[in-house]
Order: sequence, then structure tokens, then C-alpha cells
Amino acid sequence: MQFNKTKIITTLGPATGTKDMIWKLIKAGADVMRINASHGDHQFLKSIVDNVRSINEEENLNIALLLDLQGPKIRIGEIESGECVLNDKQTFILTTEEMTGNAQKATIRYSHFSSDVKKGDIVLIDDGKLKLEVKKVEANGDVVTQVINGGVLMSRKGANLPFTKISIPSITEKDREDISFALENDIEWIGLSFVRTAQDIIDLKNIIKEHGKPMRVIAKIEKPEAVRNMDAIIEVADGIMVARGDLGVEIDLAQVPIIQKKLVHKSRAAGIPVIIATQMMESMITNFRPTRAEANDVGNAVYDGADALMLSAETSVGKFPVETVQSMRRIIQAIEYDQSIYYRMNSPDKHSKTFISDTLCYHAVELAQQSGAKAIAAMTHSGYTAFKISSQRPKAGIFIFTDYKPILNTLNLVWGVRGLYYNKYISTDQTIDDIKNTLKNDGYIDAGDVIIHVASTPMHKRSRANTIKINVVD
Ligand code: PEP
Repeated sequence: MQFNKTKIITTLGPATGTKDMIWKLIKAGADVMRINASHGDHQFLKSIVDNVRSINEEENLNIALLLDLQGPKIRIGEIESGECVLNDKQTFILTTEEMTGNAQKATIRYSHFSSDVKKGDIVLIDDGKLKLEVKKVEANGDVVTQVINGGVLMSRKGANLPFTKISIPSITEKDREDISFALENDIEWIGLSFVRTAQDIIDLKNIIKEHGKPMRVIAKIEKPEAVRNMDAIIEVADGIMVARGDLGVEIDLAQVPIIQKKLVHKSRAAGIPVIIATQMMESMITNFRPTRAEANDVGNAVYDGADALMLSAETSVGKFPVETVQSMRRIIQAIEYDQSIYYRMNSPDKHSKTFISDTLCYHAVELAQQSGAKAIAAMTHSGYTAFKISSQRPKAGIFIFTDYKPILNTLNLVWGVRGLYYNKYISTDQTIDDIKNTLKNDGYIDAGDVIIHVASTPMHKRSRANTIKINVVD
């Protein structure tokens, strides 16, 4: 049985949040459902959570949920009749007071705006389509700008300030409410937007720890500070997202491919999953097939070694959500035929506290490569073994058995991993036999295939992996 190793994340919107549509997306190849806290109230988000969970139950699947927090996203206020035109070189005022804006003045929803900006700072609106330069900060807090690149200014569009040190906290009041929602609903992954430092991630992890939940944190890399602090962020995050939408506005677009490759490489070396996000199949919002450049972007992300590729507007508001997922899956599968994407081995760090289990996972993958194994079957409670084995990108299927149900959905985001529930910890021999039979009955392995077992013995101790067994399926 064949399945993608590189996972697909689909963002859901009003038209795709129904149970029927979610099921169609899953059948097309989606592994993770993303809900964006920036859009939709908790009632809508809850309906999606319920739909995904009920499909998991009915179809015996482990589809994961990812809740993306809005973070300190800055927005323009309302504009009269919804939009107005700003001309090059004209003067335009931004105020923090709520007003209905026009072509002379509009609200910017960022209370510290006038104290954070200075003359010469740049304000980019609507993904950089409009560019303003700060000329003066008035005593009353109005900020006078000059339009460098004009265009249509629409209500509530996002604003980016690439050269301004923003003083809004990384976790806003709205984020706190959304985090509570995620914790109450046992969401598996949560994405923190506009991360600046490793401390932002630690703060969110502390909130999660207080509630004793296993929710994992993805650091969205979309600010220059986060790019500068990438090593420290990777050290504390559970996953990384290359959030190319805002990243491409906040920094020089020409740097994005370089940053993408660095983040993929460093995340894999650290054994945490990495997601490539935004505009992967953008033209499919309105067209039924992708452009050549998009097909190449998806293909190259697979070659880079990303764990997961993400669809945003394509599946949340696009005209062809199912076709987009099918198309993405076809490209992924084509690249996964190429042997060069496998066995990207990273030697474990001898000085690491986890060296013993890391070297065991490394050698299990090396053994799989040398023996041409069809499957690596591992048992885990925390998921650690799954992340470590996956990060070496084996060609063999990675089958993770656990009696800790919450981890099964979590692992659905991770490259190459399939999670299966198993709770009969009687003896090592019995468990190894059960695992082999399950994989054989499910059609993943056949007689004569080589299987590598990774386990922790004695089993009742539930410690980190310490045993490798190589078997030929009878
Ligand atoms: C991005 O900016 O690329 C991103 C994924 O974030 P959002 O979709 O929340 O803007």
C-alpha cells in the first residue's frame, strides 16, 4: 500500500468546513486540517473540530488539527464604501483612533503605532501591494506618511512594518482566548504567528504546560527577528512553519528561497517537523490546474525535505479545493519516486542528553537502508522515536505503534509517519509478532519483506527506545 510521505495541510473555510467537504479533502490526500483563528468565531471552529473528530472515529483515521493563532497582526480599520484609491506621492495619515477611513486618513489597529514608528519607517499594506513611508509623528499621535506605491486600499487589510520594532506582545488577548479554545478541544498543533524570539515559544509552551495538555507548538517564521533567531527558536519549538506570505513582505522576497532551505535543513537536523506555507498552488484559487511554476514550487519543497506542504486560500475560499489537493498529491508522489530524497542522515550529537536513543534511531534507519527494509515499526509513548526516525527520511515506511491515543493524530503531520493504536504490552516477542501481523494484514508488508523493529525493553518501563530487531516477514 502506497501513501505520501510528504504530508498535506489544508486550511478550512466556510465552504470546506462541512463534514462532507472535509471527507472529500481527506480522500484527495489531506493529512492535517488547519483552522485559522484570524477568521471565524469559536462556534465555527468548534464545528470543524467536531467534523474532523467524527470522521476520525467513523473511518478509523488520525487526521490532525492545527489551529493558527492570529498573533500581533496589524490591520487597517474600516474604509468608506469598503475601499478607496491612494495615489503615488500623496500624503496619507494613519491614526490609532477608530474612524471610517478615506483617501486622506484611516485607522491602523495598533495602539502603540505612533510611539513605535519613526521618520523613514515603511508601512506595507495588503501583502505589500501599497507602500507608505513615515514622514512625521504629530503630537496628537497621527502619523503622516507619503505614499510610495499607491493602489486600492481596502477595509481591514493587514499592515506590515518591516523596519519597526513592534512593542505588541507576541501572545495577544485574542490569542489567549483562542489558546483556551484549543486546549479545551485537545487540538494537536497550535501555530504562533509573528514569533520574534525563542521566549515567545516558551511563553506559549508554559501556558500549555499549566493545563497539562500534549498540544505541540509550531513557530511561524515570518519576521526578520525570527529569521535572525532561527537557531534558538528551533531549539524550543515543536515544529516550524516557513510562513512565506508575511515573510515575503517583511523581508526582501529574494531571501525567501534561501531562508526556506535553511529552515528545512535545520529543522530536520533538530528532529522537528517543518511546513512550507502559502501560495503553493495560488492560481488554483480560480483555475482547475496549477501553473508550471507552482508545480515546481511544490516539487522543490519535497526535494528540500519538508515534512508538510500547506494550502491556504486554495482550500479555504478557492473554487477547486479538492482538485488542488489531488494535484498537490500527484506532484508529491512523482517526486517521491526519486530515490535522492531519501536517507538524508544526520549524525546524532554525542554531547546531547538524548544521544543514546538518537543513535539508536539513526542506526535503525541505516539498517533499513542497508537491508532494503520495507518498514520500520516503532513503539513510542511520547512520540520522540517517531520524530527522530522520520528526520532521517527513510524510504521504508515508518509505522508508529502507541497506546497513547493523543499522539496518533499529532504524528499525522510528520513526514512518512503512520500511527497505529496498540495496547497489548504483554511481552516483547508477542508485541513484535502482533505488529508484524497488523502491517501484513493491512497490506503494508508481504512475506519476504524486511522489517526493522524499534522498541523499548523491558516494555512496562516505557523508557526511550533501546532495542532494534531485524526480521524477515514469514
Ligand atoms: C503566512 O503568512 O504565510 C501564513 C501562513 O500566515 P497567515 O496565513 O496567517 O497569514
